[in-house]
Amino acid sequence: MSSPAIEVRGLRKSYGTKLALAGVDLTVEPGTVQGYIGANGAGKTTTVRILIGLLEGFEGEARVAGFDPRTEQVEVKRRIGYVPENAALFDTMTVAEYLLLVGRLHDLDDSVIIDRCTEILDALDLTSRLVSRVSSLSKGMRQKLLFCAALVHDPEVLFLDEPLTGLDVNASMLIKELIRELADRGRTIFYCSHVLDVVERVCDRIAIVDEGKLVAEGTFAELVDQRGIGSLEGILASLTDGGGEEDKARRILAALSDDGEG
Ligand code: ATP
Repeated sequence: MSSPAIEVRGLRKSYGTKLALAGVDLTVEPGTVQGYIGANGAGKTTTVRILIGLLEGFEGEARVAGFDPRTEQVEVKRRIGYVPENAALFDTMTVAEYLLLVGRLHDLDDSVIIDRCTEILDALDLTSRLVSRVSSLSKGMRQKLLFCAALVHDPEVLFLDEPLTGLDVNASMLIKELIRELADRGRTIFYCSHVLDVVERVCDRIAIVDEGKLVAEGTFAELVDQRGIGSLEGILASLTDGGGEEDKARRILAALSDDGEG
């Protein structure tokens, strides 16, 4: 059997006195699209930042593509792609310059970078912007560029944080299709999102994190079975502090119409 693409044991991380991760265990096999969901502040980005070697000062063990992100950051970075929710890009570069820079950092020949990026940008309808400055791109175009940069070195493990934000319908469909095809070729995708219907359809397995702890993990069918609830939204609400949204909305409206004299 091949070794796990991602392995995490007893992962704990605090920011000052705030405990963000309280001991997470998770194993992701190669070729899996692993969903990672939870409420705002649950600890998703913290987990990803540890796994990609951007965050230190954590307890527990982590392995990505067989390497330790604490001590083997270069090995990890060679094998991963990352599409963050908010990225700082080099705004003064053109799209072509930026992609050449990223590809060269991965030791790729320029001809390989150009071939691969031409194909990806063409599919994403961004080829016409090759000589545009990054600062001139729309939000969705920046997201497409991030995808291209994350894929150019054909990473073993792809970390996606709200990857469809700002994408138009065609690009969204393409990315979802690509995620499935990459997994079929043995690539692993770690997919963080609040868009639960997409998570339900795209992910092979789903892990639910709440206040820094893993509270459920399995296929969607297994989670439905375990919880006796037919939607991921309902399952998440039952495991976290969700639910009662109608009441909450009514209370807000009541407060808004309260003139303070009663
Ligand atoms: P979201 O869905 O809103 O992106 P998340 O699940 O990604 O949330 P994290 O960003 O991992 O959550 O945050 C987990 C906890 O750690 C939160 O309570 C957050 O306030 C805290 N936290 C995250 N980054 C920092 C930081 N740099 N300094 C202090 N606290 C932080």
